[in-house]
Amino acid sequence: MTDACAENGLRSVEAAKQMLIDSINPITQSETIPLEQACGRVLAEPVLAALDLPPCDNSAMDGYALGGDHESYTLIGKSLAGHPFDGTLESGQAIRITTGAAVPKGADRVQMQENCTVDGNQLSMSRPASPGENIRRRGEDVHTGQSLVPVGSKIKVPHIALLAAAGVEEVTVIRPLKAALLSIGDELKPIGTPPSELGDGDIYDSNRIALKAALNQLDIEILDLDCWPDQPDKIREAFILARDSADFVITSGGVSVGEADFTKTVLQELGEIGFWKLAIKPGKPFAFGRLPKTEGETLFFGLPGNPVSAIVTLYQLVIPALEKLRGTADEYRQPPLQTRARLLNAICKKPGRTDFQRGFTYRDADGIQVVETRGIQGSHILSGFAQANCFVVLPREGGDCETGDWVTVEPFSAPLK
Ligand code: AMP
Ligand code: MG
Repeated sequence: MTDACAENGLRSVEAAKQMLIDSINPITQSETIPLEQACGRVLAEPVLAALDLPPCDNSAMDGYALGGDHESYTLIGKSLAGHPFDGTLESGQAIRITTGAAVPKGADRVQMQENCTVDGNQLSMSRPASPGENIRRRGEDVHTGQSLVPVGSKIKVPHIALLAAAGVEEVTVIRPLKAALLSIGDELKPIGTPPSELGDGDIYDSNRIALKAALNQLDIEILDLDCWPDQPDKIREAFILARDSADFVITSGGVSVGEADFTKTVLQELGEIGFWKLAIKPGKPFAFGRLPKTEGETLFFGLPGNPVSAIVTLYQLVIPALEKLRGTADEYRQPPLQTRARLLNAICKKPGRTDFQRGFTYRDADGIQVVETRGIQGSHILSGFAQANCFVVLPREGGDCETGDWVTVEPFSAPLK
């Protein structure tokens, strides 16, 4: 893996993301699961419609199904949803019909009941119905044999609705990805340790919990390997455990200069690893590699330890890579939506790195999308991040911004939302 970098020795976020995506081979193993559990999963096998939708011509309204174009009709029966009229209408005949009920043979239009008057078995109307009016045609939604959802789609609620309407009970999806998650750092203590038992300089291992919460939302099976000290032997042990039990490993901490040296040595022993300096703020150091094993390989994502950096790099780089790994087709792997908003405060920025500041965006009383940054923009400041609902994305070569400037904002989407 090369460490070739762009100008000022830093790799752009876009280039890094593309390199990750290009170097990942999607997994193909699949499993068949009940449709109702398939939301968020990636479809692995085509699903073809076994029937037309709607399955028969049916009424879009409560009203009267009419035979031909007349001023009045003779009522001869009814068709209710689930209880079709058993017969054929002749010209000049009508039946009472409800929404979704089958339109019988001979009926070529439906008049809504608001336009109808019934006197005995005679039906008259305040306005004529045109041919085909208020009839939902058999197959106008889906034809038998048609592909219902493209392979590689991430299944969403509308897909579930469509597949269920077509009577599909089970779908074959890519199996869940398996992640191994661990933290590295002598100063890290598990949450639950009483504050009085924290040594000088100790902190809680918050990254692992936050990263776990994020991965949990992506249907990823997580092997939580806890936190490990800054010791090469221990790190080797952790990486081997992780490699042997997962499709990919996510670590945080221990990838910045200085500490990286032995992490790097261990990783190079086990596989192929690149340490990247990214033109991203927060989150400069990042490691990516592959650890070969008896069957296949395990991907390695080494996130920076600073808590905001860890989450930003997960969101900007690792999640897109995982989407590729879990088989989501190119056209369904969309980058997070960006929009423009007017800044409510000035921002200091040095050119050189794309800055993902934490902000809060909303529509003001005049209907203008505005954004203000939240909290001190430090990579260790979590209170501002927790108040934010978007990133303010400041381009790499840009400098300071003034109040009133229009900037790009990226509202948080899954798994940050
Ligand atoms: P490192 O990447 O190991 O140089 O760590 C950079 C900063 O992130 C240091 O202040 C670490 O204490 C902090 N840090 C590292 N790992 C974690 C973690 N798992 N949770 C919270 N903070 C961390
Ligand atoms: Mg460290």
